[in-house]
Amino acid sequence: MAEERKSLIKKIGSTAAMNELMAEYFKELDQAANTHSAKVAWCTSVGPAELLRAFGFGVYFPENHGAMLGTSRLAPDLIPAANAVGYSPDICSYCTSDVGSYLQKNTPLTKAFGIKTVPRPDVLVYNTNQCRDVQDWFSFYQREFDVPLIGVETPRSVGEVKSEQVQDIVVQLKGLIPALEQVSSQKFDIDRLREVVASSYRCTLGWKKVLRAAENVPSPITFFDGTIHMGPAVVLRGDDRAIGYYETLHAELQQRIEQNNGAVDGEKLRFFWEGMPVWGKLRAHAELFAENRACVVASTYCNSWIFEPLAEPDPFLGMARAYTELFIVRSEAYKERYLEGMARDYRIDGFIYHDAKTCPNNSNNRYGLPGRLAQKLELPYVVFNGDLNDLRLYSEEQARTQFEALIEQVS
Ligand code: SF4
Repeated sequence: MAEERKSLIKKIGSTAAMNELMAEYFKELDQAANTHSAKVAWCTSVGPAELLRAFGFGVYFPENHGAMLGTSRLAPDLIPAANAVGYSPDICSYCTSDVGSYLQKNTPLTKAFGIKTVPRPDVLVYNTNQCRDVQDWFSFYQREFDVPLIGVETPRSVGEVKSEQVQDIVVQLKGLIPALEQVSSQKFDIDRLREVVASSYRCTLGWKKVLRAAENVPSPITFFDGTIHMGPAVVLRGDDRAIGYYETLHAELQQRIEQNNGAVDGEKLRFFWEGMPVWGKLRAHAELFAENRACVVASTYCNSWIFEPLAEPDPFLGMARAYTELFIVRSEAYKERYLEGMARDYRIDGFIYHDAKTCPNNSNNRYGLPGRLAQKLELPYVVFNGDLNDLRLYSEEQARTQFEALIEQVS
């Protein structure tokens, strides 16, 4: 019998605490939906979660469920069910796998936490800052559950963020209040919102410290670790438990730094990952880079849950700025400058661009950016074709060959 190869992925000890926290979060939501102990709001990943939490909603994020459908590799089997009811194979595969999961009554929450279904929503709240797909995705559930669908429409391809743009978002955020008061049967409380936003800001600082630990050489954490450990920053921002978790994780990374114990043994190369992860291939990708003593140290994706403008004294202004100044909302010129800064801060040797077929919004290789940046920084890059969830759009062999060619180029 062939000897099993030893994994090169170093386990992060804090993972157990994170898993417990995530289980607690999902079980609370399940209980809220089943016992009506709290109302449930569905929110897009960079939607106004703080406002919802201030109203006491249990906040559920379908994109997080989408990522679980990807990591569990259920997505490719479920997407066709959404295609069959008219949702194109070319649109967001988080959306199609999630709709497929609903239609097929098959969720990874069952295996992970013993939960039968995703929590039934009382209200659906979106922000189109990331893409239009989220609005159409939530519209599907609006028709299914017959609950209010409300949201914020944010300008896209924003260069310099202008105060009138931010003010417009402030007005839109405040405009959500009457519907939220009605669904939650609670009066809006500005002091409670201030508390939640302050908590969310502290979570941002904790998550940022974790990601910035990767500036150290060798890095104590990889991008692949980051995609897993960002869970609390996504689903529990505004809840103090997320802050506690990032303190624990950061302490562990600090210890690794003190012991010169990199996430990749013998780290020789450092890369930046631009775009979405291929959720069903996280482990394979982590192994491949580790085998080559290469560490993928940073990404725009994991950094998307750093919301520093939440420090604003006015919580509405803070939320409006945080959710409008995001990388994904910005112009090509802004993105180029941002990546240039990241290359310098993290001392990277090259860029990996994921052209995710069903997410043009997170694929920044399509308008010449990689070439322009390579010329400016004299750093090599590779663009590989794939997808966040639909593994039928990804070729393992092709990606491996491309990654290895990049590694060889800089070795
Ligand atoms: S940004 Fe991309 S992955 Fe996220 S919801 Fe929109 S299309 Fe889907």
